[in-house]
Amino acid sequence: MYKVWKNCIGCGECAKACDFNLIQTFDDYILMDIEKCRHCSKCVETCQNNVFTKSVIFKHFLYLLYYKIKKS
Ligand code: SF4
Ligand code: SF4
Repeated sequence: MYKVWKNCIGCGECAKACDFNLIQTFDDYILMDIEKCRHCSKCVETCQNNVFTKSVIFKHFLYLLYYKIKKS
């Protein structure tokens, strides 16, 4: 699970946007099931609070890469 928290208000819009139900929302953060992420970016585009900053997205890519290498 990958935690995204900076500026998050737990509105749940990103979770609704994910077609694969990979996001759990809490009061001020979300948990993303990064291993199953399909990389569609709908959650990123949906967030009105710009929680998914470039650095977060970059980390997200690194985690994805890590899991893909680990599985291969
Ligand atoms: S849409 Fe943004 S502010 Fe709302 S729960 Fe998701 S990450 Fe947090
Ligand atoms: S990038 Fe797409 S598949 Fe991955 S968590 Fe966000 S909405 Fe779901």
